[in-house]
Amino acid sequence: MEKVLATGKTHKIKVKKPFLLPRKEKIICPFCGNSEEFYDIIENATFYIHYLQTEEGHLEPVEEEAEVLGPVKFFCGSCNADLTYLKK
Ligand SMILES: [Zn+2]
Repeated sequence: MEKVLATGKTHKIKVKKPFLLPRKEKIICPFCGNSEEFYDIIENATFYIHYLQTEEGHLEPVEEEAEVLGPVKFFCGSCNADLTYLKK
């Protein structure tokens, strides 16, 4: 049988672990503070669209392919600043 020694005080040490929240870094335009609207400009892309012509002479696209060759530039949707370097 074990003797339970009443030590009176018990200290509970809470160890706080550093939170590793997947904190998504928001892109904020350094020029105007915009963090909502952005747009991409693809400078050099080749689009391949395969059509089938119907009896009535309409062209119906049946297949589309896009090949991006040039750099994709990323812009602020508010002040149109080039933010390509912020987009990773
Ligand atoms: Zn901006």
